Amino acid sequence: MSGAEDTFFSDGGHENMVPPRPLRASRETIEKYAEVIAREYLNLSYGDDIQHAVIKAGGKIVIGSTGENTSNSGSLIARSRNDFTIYLSPFTSLLRDRFTIAHELGHLFLHLENSLEGNPSTSMYATRYVDEKNEEAMRAEWEANWFAAALLMPATKFAEVYKTNGDDLTKTADFFKVSSAAASVRANSLDLLKS
Ligand SMILES: [Zn+2]
Repeated sequence: MSGAEDTFFSDGGHENMVPPRPLRASRETIEKYAEVIAREYLNLSYGDDIQHAVIKAGGKIVIGSTGENTSNSGSLIARSRNDFTIYLSPFTSLLRDRFTIAHELGHLFLHLENSLEGNPSTSMYATRYVDEKNEEAMRAEWEANWFAAALLMPATKFAEVYKTNGDDLTKTADFFKVSSAAASVRANSLDLLKS
């Protein structure tokens, strides 16, 4: 645990925080689940305003850090599925923010129940940076990324749009309102990139 996190957790107002505990479901299961959440819970279609969906779901978005540590922008504190706050950096682009929000929603929908199990007075705190040697934490990060990619770029639609646009990643990224980097990772994971 870094010094900054020590400071964070020693703050009186932020006791009883637990990190996200991974679900250890397959990537396929997590992606399918993300598509169901997008459609049926968040009512989110391609390129929709995700901040609006967060607010409708009971969440808050704060531009800035959790207060203690400026490097923690891009994090989540969740008390329940409809009581949570996402912290965004004031220095990132809208497209980056959309992926960050989708990633934090991944922690919320995949990890909250699991993490608070048996201790409902606790909150889950998902930090932007995790210790790469911590397998639990890294697995939770992967799961949240899989969730985010599928939430913003559902597999079937992504393949269709990519093909319609003649395999043009920039146009595909524009359609889903994600960065070209995120679209490229998605195309690769769906085996759409020609070698
Ligand atoms: Zn995360």
